[in-house]
Amino acid sequence: MNIILFGAPGAGKGTQAKVLIDYLNIIQISTGDMLRDEVKSGSNLGKMAKQIMDKGDLISDEIIMEIIGERIKKPDCKNGFIFDGFPRTLNQAKSLDDLLASKEMKIDNIIEIYVEEDLLLERINKRISENDISRDDDNPEVLKNRIEIYKSDTLPVLNYYKQSNRLNSVNGMQEIDKVSDDIKNIILT
Ligand code: AMP
Repeated sequence: MNIILFGAPGAGKGTQAKVLIDYLNIIQISTGDMLRDEVKSGSNLGKMAKQIMDKGDLISDEIIMEIIGERIKKPDCKNGFIFDGFPRTLNQAKSLDDLLASKEMKIDNIIEIYVEEDLLLERINKRISENDISRDDDNPEVLKNRIEIYKSDTLPVLNYYKQSNRLNSVNGMQEIDKVSDDIKNIILT
């Protein structure tokens, strides 16, 4: 089973992806994690990506599609995968449709974890104050930019899926277990 999990920064995508990979025995493909690995490795791509990520801006669609194209070829994707943090632009969503069609693959479930903006800010501010090893892009200024970019670049992706009746939404303001149950119910129906 192939799934896309959507949500603004702080909506709980990563947390829910971890629950689902165990439940469904599939893998998580987080473009953010893959980019952070590139940064750690010190590669040229990593150096370039760090500058963009530290500002909370988006990496180019070409680079993201290249990374995704290579990743879904790997044998561990055979059982299925969860995209976490991808697609983030309309261009990425359309390119993904083309890429999957060319491989006779498809996305089975597209799920939005919805959280109101005030609560997103509260959660990330908490994450920043509690976490010694917080991410370089977890600071109030950058966070604001990430949420703005979510609204300007990523919400159109949700509308794109909504228009073709492919989008399901869960209330991400509930207890973590309840959010997981709601997602599982969508997946199983
Ligand atoms: P995330 O961990 O998903 O919040 O991603 C962290 C950062 O990586 C983002 O703020 C972007 O700079 C970059 N990034 C991750 N995924 C994508 C994507 N699909 N398209 C463009 N940039 C991305």
